[in-house]
Amino acid sequence: MIGLNDTKKKRTFDAIVVGSGISGGWAAKELAEKGLKTLILERGPDVKHIVDYPTAMMQPWDFPHGLRLPLKEREENPIASKCYIFNEDAKHFVVKDKEHPYVQEKPFDWIRGYQVGGKSLLWARETQRWSQLDFDGPARDGYAVEWPIGYKDIAPWYSYVEKFAGITGNRDGLEQLPDGEFLKPFEQSCVGKYFDEFLQKNYKNRRAIIARKAHITDPQQVHYDQGRAQCQHRRLCQRGCPLGGYFSSNASTIPWALKTGNCTLRADSVVDSIIYDEKKGKAVGVKVIDRLTKKEYEFYADIIFVNAAAMNTTALLLNSTSSRFPEGLGNDSGVLGKYVAFHNYRARVSGQYEGMPDTKTEGGQVASSYMPRWRNLFEQETDFIRGYAAGFGAGRRPFHSHEGIGEELKQNLVSDKWGPWYVGSHMMGETIPKETNFLALDRSKTDEWGIPLIHFNVDYDENDEKMVKDYLQNTTEMFEKAGFTNIRATDSKQAPGLDIHEMGGARMGKDPKTSMLNKWNQVHSCKNVFVTDGACMTSTSTQNPSLTYMAFAARSADYAVEEMKKGNL
Ligand SMILES: Cc1cc2nc3c(=O)[nH]c(=O)nc-3n(C[C@H](O)[C@H](O)[C@H](O)COP(=O)(O)OP(=O)(O)OC[C@H]3O[C@@H](n4cnc5c(N)ncnc54)[C@H](O)[C@@H]3O)c2cc1C
Ligand code: SF4
Repeated sequence: MIGLNDTKKKRTFDAIVVGSGISGGWAAKELAEKGLKTLILERGPDVKHIVDYPTAMMQPWDFPHGLRLPLKEREENPIASKCYIFNEDAKHFVVKDKEHPYVQEKPFDWIRGYQVGGKSLLWARETQRWSQLDFDGPARDGYAVEWPIGYKDIAPWYSYVEKFAGITGNRDGLEQLPDGEFLKPFEQSCVGKYFDEFLQKNYKNRRAIIARKAHITDPQQVHYDQGRAQCQHRRLCQRGCPLGGYFSSNASTIPWALKTGNCTLRADSVVDSIIYDEKKGKAVGVKVIDRLTKKEYEFYADIIFVNAAAMNTTALLLNSTSSRFPEGLGNDSGVLGKYVAFHNYRARVSGQYEGMPDTKTEGGQVASSYMPRWRNLFEQETDFIRGYAAGFGAGRRPFHSHEGIGEELKQNLVSDKWGPWYVGSHMMGETIPKETNFLALDRSKTDEWGIPLIHFNVDYDENDEKMVKDYLQNTTEMFEKAGFTNIRATDSKQAPGLDIHEMGGARMGKDPKTSMLNKWNQVHSCKNVFVTDGACMTSTSTQNPSLTYMAFAARSADYAVEEMKKGNL
């Protein structure tokens, strides 16, 4: 490991990537592959593919608490406990509340993964491309600034990352959800197919397609070259998949980057700030605090990619002050930290279906159905702007009554009777980036490494409330018409953040006066710093965001290398 006593030369690279999660892994792979000596700095511990997945092969009965967490552990982690992923099998990949505090002016349920691979080990792997409609959102309704790019700019990069990562899906031919480079789709459940047919017959622009996911259903040479294999439907992905059946930085981009011989990974390296050289008029490196020894180091490079995940990236830029940038690196516009947005997963509708009694679900279903955005698509049809997509799932379980005693109880427990189909949907709403939704640094409070705590001021607004209402009404109506019964519509009223799709804080834009980054994800006023994670997002769309971060990272790295060759950085 590179240390304090190493010469400045040894601590100097062509490129530094901060963060080794979904976007950082891609930046590192591209830069190293293109020949740049690249250093990845990751604040958390190293997690090596296969060897550091301690629970991957455990059976439910091998866990002391049958996969659940003791009450004490839940009480000690009130925020992490709200996330479905925080259980006995994957808790070691989830940030514990006490270890990494932050200030909540308004409740913000921030779920994080601080380790090599970041949240790529934990994610649900839903991957949809954005459409031109999503990039047009701000220009159409005037909220937030216009995107500096459109679908055609990013489409080739979607193709590029999809082929390497391995994305399954159907070519559905929908304008609001462009098709990609898909491996064969997962099989949709019969009730999913039934619901899709029902929607096509009864509504315009409504579908329930099989979800597009970052799983290898049909391995290609490029996946074998990564050492990855076909997904076996184990459905234990959040523990880390020894087969590399789903895309994670650990299984895919990071080992690939390391294999080039051009990449160095330094885990346990908390990046405190970016060092700006006033004379050179550019960033020259980063200041790092070792997570374990708390010693301070400096590393140097010609270009810096910041991929610490949206909120941490924004905080890092805010903490990078100098006399040229007293309010944070590149923050001439004053927008750094502002226009934070997120997805709204508050609402769900569930029910039962008495039809198809002769069919059942078998084995692990890795993908359920996805209902692409159907509101305000080609015209403004509601009293709220933008729209929402939704998930749709259907499943069935054997019906085991616990009634009776003796022989009757035994018979009830081994009965081969099946319960009805359960159906459920959850909303995935687009929130509007606003100046009043921001994060700032609370310099009066610091963490264990002496870095100021993040202070969140983020909330829903009237537009979000109207969207929730519309989703609940619309979905209840669809479920009733489709013949589902016992329908329940609920608004969890959960705080923002729990959907784990936080975005913005250092948005892209055409005008340096109102944005932080240009169309290449390059800081307008500090050209050798690039931000290609969720901090760059100008608006949020309804699609899951990570595929877009991957495409941005690959595109931007390609541009940075070309600019370096021309001597522009
Ligand atoms: C349970 C769950 C389900 C999800 N499902 C989906 C889904 O289905 N589809 C989808 O698109 N997205 C999903 N997401 C979100 C997805 O995981 C994130 O969008 C994605 O990981 C973001 O990539 P990133 O590179 O920005 O951040 P991360 O993957 O979080 O990586 C950031 C890395 O930076 C490191 N870091 C942070 N600060 C510093 C610092 N100061 N110095 C050094 N290193 C630092 C962190 O430790 C981390 O390793 C889900 C997330 C979770 C937790
Ligand atoms: S479902 Fe596929 S990707 Fe997930 S753990 Fe199983 S084999 Fe691995």
